[in-house]
Amino acid sequence: MHPELSFQEHGTVAFVADVLKAEGIEVREGVGRLTPEAKGTGLIAVVRGEAAPSDRCFALRADLDALPITEVGKDTYRSTNTGVMHACGHDAHTAMVLGAGLLLHRMRKEWSGTVMLVFQPGEEKEPGGASLLVKEGPPRSRTIRDPGATRHAGASDRQTRFPFRCFHGRCG
Ligand SMILES: [Zn+2]
Repeated sequence: MHPELSFQEHGTVAFVADVLKAEGIEVREGVGRLTPEAKGTGLIAVVRGEAAPSDRCFALRADLDALPITEVGKDTYRSTNTGVMHACGHDAHTAMVLGAGLLLHRMRKEWSGTVMLVFQPGEEKEPGGASLLVKEGPPRSRTIRDPGATRHAGASDRQTRFPFRCFHGRCG
């Protein structure tokens, strides 16, 4: 209902951060900076399984931004931000990864390893937020085994299958 354009996802990412932090999930905010001076509107959260020691690491990716399209209709969930619309389903992607993260955290004693929740800004623009996040990662980081969960309708493989990296070396 409150879509924001690429790299302007301040309210959206703040909502995601609030939900995760309220649950006690570790978050890294301000990632995906378009310029060195800009405040990044991406977020990476780390959920750790506690069943047994494990260095396995997976990522679930969602995109946060909306498109410059005016939403019409009378649905109760329609955009309240005139001229901006989640016409590509990123609100659903964000809800899915956020929900999965909460459930994984609540079930953490039942599984092992680390799951990173990657909330990517600016998927609809070039350079996309994914490339910025990869660039910000330390060079010694290693590749996560599964690069993503949500798929983007009509997106190229270059956008959705990027070799996302673990930002914490051994996954946190
Ligand atoms: Zn999209």
